[in-house]
Amino acid sequence: MANMAIFRQIKAELEEKGARLVAVSKTRTTAEIMELYAAGQRIFGENRVQEMVQKYEQLPKDIEWHLIGHLQNNKVKYIAPWVALIHSADSLQLLQTINKEAARQHRRIDCLLQFHIAQEESKYGFTFAEVEALLESEALAALQHIRISGVMAMATFTDDVAQIRREFATLQQYYRQLKQRFFSKNDDFKEISMGMSGDYNIAIEEGSTMVRIGSLLFEE
Ligand SMILES: *Cc1c(COP(=O)(O)O)cnc(C)c1O
Repeated sequence: MANMAIFRQIKAELEEKGARLVAVSKTRTTAEIMELYAAGQRIFGENRVQEMVQKYEQLPKDIEWHLIGHLQNNKVKYIAPWVALIHSADSLQLLQTINKEAARQHRRIDCLLQFHIAQEESKYGFTFAEVEALLESEALAALQHIRISGVMAMATFTDDVAQIRREFATLQQYYRQLKQRFFSKNDDFKEISMGMSGDYNIAIEEGSTMVRIGSLLFEE
């Protein structure tokens, strides 16, 4: 069941701060999603393609579906016709695949560049140097069917609030530097996707424009 009191409280907080809510609905039922939909929520995030496709097919078509988890090249085609935003673009090859499938659908797909900022070992996410090289490359410039609309990252899973804050501040600095160097005349590059159930307050203080909240919205 969705926790409507928490949902309304978070919505109010975010509205005041000018950030948007991605309701992370992975593992939740379509009935639970519809509870939030009925209260006005339209952006939902999923981390697995198959689950997102099933929910897309069953649910109202004005839902904006955001892919927030690692995306395999061979799965892009299943979501390319309708996905609203891919938060987890983490390689040139994946961006090329998204571009190819978007071209087939005669559309442009919005993508965020996922950074690896946490201390945990992770296979996914760019370093800052990798993104600089990517944005300077002709290979990226050739991709006319994607739109780089910002950055995304996850903080370390820890109780150390100061560390989480430092990591979010790092992502916000990355965003600013990239904006200045590569997107100063491009209004599409505007999103900083950071903050989950346990750390969204810190993320907002550090400049998040989009928080991805799951468990908190659905707990009893
Ligand atoms: C699951 C998930 C979230 C939401 O996490 P909660 O702690 O349930 O709020 C956010 N971002 C990503 C990438 C996730 O996989």
